[in-house]
Amino acid sequence: MSDQQPIIQIRNVSKRFGKVTAVDNVNLDIMAGEFFVLLGPSGCGKTTLLRMIAGFELPTEGQIIIDGVDVSDVPPNKRPVNMVFQSYAVFPHMSVADNVAYGLKIRGVGRGEREERVREALELVKLGGFEDRMPDQMSGGQRQRVALARSLVMRPKVLLLDEPLSALDAKLRAQMQFELSDLQDQVGITFVTVTHDQDEALSMASRIAVINKGEVAQLAGPSDLYEFPANRFVADFVGSVNIFEGKLTLDEPDKAAVDCPGLGMVYLNHGVTGPHGADVWVALRPEKIYLHVPGEGKAVRAAAKDAPEGHNFARGVIKGMSYLGDITLYEIKLDSGEMIRVSRPNLSRHDQEDFTWDDRVSMHWRADSPVVLLS
Ligand code: ATP
Repeated sequence: MSDQQPIIQIRNVSKRFGKVTAVDNVNLDIMAGEFFVLLGPSGCGKTTLLRMIAGFELPTEGQIIIDGVDVSDVPPNKRPVNMVFQSYAVFPHMSVADNVAYGLKIRGVGRGEREERVREALELVKLGGFEDRMPDQMSGGQRQRVALARSLVMRPKVLLLDEPLSALDAKLRAQMQFELSDLQDQVGITFVTVTHDQDEALSMASRIAVINKGEVAQLAGPSDLYEFPANRFVADFVGSVNIFEGKLTLDEPDKAAVDCPGLGMVYLNHGVTGPHGADVWVALRPEKIYLHVPGEGKAVRAAAKDAPEGHNFARGVIKGMSYLGDITLYEIKLDSGEMIRVSRPNLSRHDQEDFTWDDRVSMHWRADSPVVLLS
């Protein structure tokens, strides 16, 4: 949990490599004790930003302040941070305990304290009792924990993690996502992680900065980022989304709608900022759309009679399906000719209608589901 004091302040920071602007005038406050994630596609500049916090790269412009001190010219080993690298290289010829003790030894910490701190760090990463193992006798996930313990043992104020889970298989990665956020909670150290994996970011972060082309596209907590993306880039990059072009109509006060050629009139029951007639995009998540047999829409409409504009409706034909175990994804051709994606949880077989290719279907979604983005 964050105690609302910025531990890292990134002020007007840019980094250029020749003609490439990797980081473009970024301003960010990272709070003490938070699990902060820099999320973005390959090449967006997130690693360069992390490396500047670590001190492995110097900003071309701007300042980095850690714990109140401008560290812009301070070398990495003099900063109160520690970095866990993507490859989580551990020394193969050293036991687990020696790996973890290495940094303390270099700093001249005495044997007694060293042993105590190594034991404590290994307990934290659930490797108590593994002191004498060699790295080649351990799984990828265990080696990753050794790398974490090696950083934690130094008790840095900030732990920087560069794609910490990218080398692990999907199942282990999901487990480590839980473990990392638990661990962060337990030790209270500020974690700053870089990833291109949105699931990883959403599941671990207290706040996420989405980076696009060297700039912060949005800074928000996981659910705000998903539910209220600020622009098309974030809507597209975080999660799966349907996007339709349209014109904002504000004919009646408090009754915003978007006239979308591809989707019809989309009613909204939330405030929208933008002038009447503005070109906008409507972003609609596939899981916010309910699928039913044609005709059932009437019942939905009747049930929503106290809020007649509380729902939106569309019709189409199923043109594609992929069964993913917990959900099925449908590709539906709307009557306008445009495609829309709908996901549906696979409940007990008796609880819902089965749909298949070429079925004609109705869809509805609540007026608070679409997000309107200025184009
Ligand atoms: P990835 O996820 O692929 O690592 P990233 O979002 O972390 O990508 P960066 O590694 O920060 O992106 O790179 C941002 C941009 O800066 C890229 O265009 C990259 O080619 C460039 N870049 C990064 N490091 C250097 C360097 N040392 N010399 C020249 N260009 C660099």
